[in-house]
Amino acid sequence: MFNKLSMFLSAFICFAGTVFAQSQPCSTDEHHQDLLVKYPELAEFEQQFHQQLRGILASRTTSSTSDTEYYDVPIVVHVVHDYGVENLKDDDIYEAAKNWAKAFVKENADTAVVIDPFKPYIGNARLKLHLATIDPNGNPTKGVVRHYSYLTHTADDQAKYESWPHNKYINIWFVNSFGSSGAAAYAYYPSVGAFRPNYDGVISLYNYLDRSKTIPHELGHVLNLQHVWGNNNNAAVACGDDEVDDTPPTKGHSPGCIPTAIYDVTCATGYSKTYVSSSGLADSLVDYPDTTNSQNIMDYTYCSNMFTIGQCYRMRAAITSSVAGRNNLITPANIAATGALAPMPDLPPVADFYVGRSTAAGIVTDAKTRFLTFTHDGKFTFSNASWNDTVSSVHWEFSNGAQTPVSSSMTTVENKFSVPGWVTVTLTATSNAGSNTIVNTSTVYAADTTPRGGLDYSQQFANAGHILDWPMINYYENQFKWEFHNGSGKGDNGCIGYHSYDATGVAYGEASGDYDDVFTPAFNLEGLSGDVYVNFYTAGASRNGRSSDTRDSMELQVSTSGGARWVKLEGYNGIALANNGNRFGNFEPSSTTEWVGRSVSIPEIYRNRETFFRLRFRPGVRGNNLYVDDFRISALPVNIQGLAGDKKPELIIYPNPSSNGTNIAFKTGNDGIATYTIRDVAGKVIYSATRTGLPNSIVNDFISRSEIPLSGMYFVSLVNGSSNITKKLTIY
Ligand SMILES: [Zn+2]
Repeated sequence: MFNKLSMFLSAFICFAGTVFAQSQPCSTDEHHQDLLVKYPELAEFEQQFHQQLRGILASRTTSSTSDTEYYDVPIVVHVVHDYGVENLKDDDIYEAAKNWAKAFVKENADTAVVIDPFKPYIGNARLKLHLATIDPNGNPTKGVVRHYSYLTHTADDQAKYESWPHNKYINIWFVNSFGSSGAAAYAYYPSVGAFRPNYDGVISLYNYLDRSKTIPHELGHVLNLQHVWGNNNNAAVACGDDEVDDTPPTKGHSPGCIPTAIYDVTCATGYSKTYVSSSGLADSLVDYPDTTNSQNIMDYTYCSNMFTIGQCYRMRAAITSSVAGRNNLITPANIAATGALAPMPDLPPVADFYVGRSTAAGIVTDAKTRFLTFTHDGKFTFSNASWNDTVSSVHWEFSNGAQTPVSSSMTTVENKFSVPGWVTVTLTATSNAGSNTIVNTSTVYAADTTPRGGLDYSQQFANAGHILDWPMINYYENQFKWEFHNGSGKGDNGCIGYHSYDATGVAYGEASGDYDDVFTPAFNLEGLSGDVYVNFYTAGASRNGRSSDTRDSMELQVSTSGGARWVKLEGYNGIALANNGNRFGNFEPSSTTEWVGRSVSIPEIYRNRETFFRLRFRPGVRGNNLYVDDFRISALPVNIQGLAGDKKPELIIYPNPSSNGTNIAFKTGNDGIATYTIRDVAGKVIYSATRTGLPNSIVNDFISRSEIPLSGMYFVSLVNGSSNITKKLTIY
């Protein structure tokens, strides 16, 4: 319980400074206060940590004149990206990292514009930040790693997966957007980092890479600095203090580097501090500036030019404290292990590419077009995203009778394929330091247009061979995906399933935000009249019983444009999809009763010679696995599809129990006649009908509720040739 909560503690969300109108950057402080009221023990934990830090701080302050040592600090930058603008360029990151470092050694040139009262107080933290040159596995690195993930969108702590040990590196993540609007970045105090080691560090919007000292500000929080007005996110509200003497009390300032902010005296007038002598000498009084230090990096003005001497003591106290293992960062052993002092190595590139929207004729609307028929006009688009060194040349190779089998384009290759199936894409990127090759065999699928069936197609997924023409695309190449499931199914030992249950969220991030598709083969439905259904069964579950946790959803979509455009036919979510309720562990169906039938009527406009369907699953927060089996195309809905091949007489009543009418389905006898009768428990006839048709033809009658107005139990009997079947019907 504690771990879950502590992620909110002391998080400082810093304001995206371009939107001046907003004065309330976020609700983090409210979260913090709410939690402290609800769980008072949290305050005690924090207090213990702060006590230790204050102890170090006190000793530092008194011996400050001799504290001139420089500490080296390894850092690592994680780019969490979806191949968009947030996929920052290497050189921009290297350049930004140099600029961040300047603020911690008082080398930022803009200290020159600090106003006179604060010139004597500009501090030098003597902390030398270095991009690491050795990763946690001992391999050479340039101190930048990339993670391809949906978690870059509306990001939170979940985006910080695959963090490097926080007592060896300060982790800094960049993302596309935050869930809470208005935030530019946030970081955690050492006290919180101690509880959530995987989330310790800085997370920022990509466009604050080197803007208004956002990253030095966040690193200030990592090193235990508060905002200059104190321990909350609400600038320009109330006079406050940050436990640092040489930053005068202030309300803080909303973004806006204007003279009234720079020379603001609010809260600071007459500010001084008396220091009581411990050696019997006279107490000393220090008359600090009577102006607020709005040029401080820990204010929101974005006239961010300086840390004070007192803040530097405080940061040095944090980095020499064992809280969150900060003091391990600067040990000679760690500096050697992380290669912090070594020059950036010259490493070969990392070959990388992504598949994008086609720009050719044929209008492909999906953002990630990975599925098109091999005859389609549209083309797949492959874009070079190789990184980690200045790439001098690339070499592409494509399989499947590619229109452009080989290319040396440094940017983008458009391609189409004359041989159906999974395409193998090979990209080699070369720099002065060597070459690197990536081979991807499951990135795009050129679908066959030969129909695999039409009406009465049936797929039982009995073994792995049955999914050969059911391509499953794992868009984010992670462990949350569609796959063949061996071991259980609706009528046999196999089915397909979406694996979303994962207890290792810290290592990989939450499944929510991902989505993946399974595609059917082509069906020939051309010219079919009357009802045509897609029928299948699903078995789903939630994870921990709260209705808010049943957020998994799935859509059945159809395409008659060779995969270029898809239309939703039906959607499933909530407890209807999680039909087996709460399963604490990794859900797998174990009985036929765990499956629920689904029928989706196919409108005539989608009955084509090449009709494709796909199931798109979107895992929710803390959802569970979802299984699909027994996929059919049928003229009958799923409940009675069995009648089609049935030899023995059968009477099917659905739904039952029912509150809103019910269906009665059966076959006529060899003489083409059948009669059914609904009686109440007293034997009184409530409804009766005789149906005449061809011998052994299927009847599916709907009896409306008005025909059976009273709730209760009824008996439905069917007389069909020589057989007589009676079943119970409950109306509620
Ligand atoms: Zn902040």
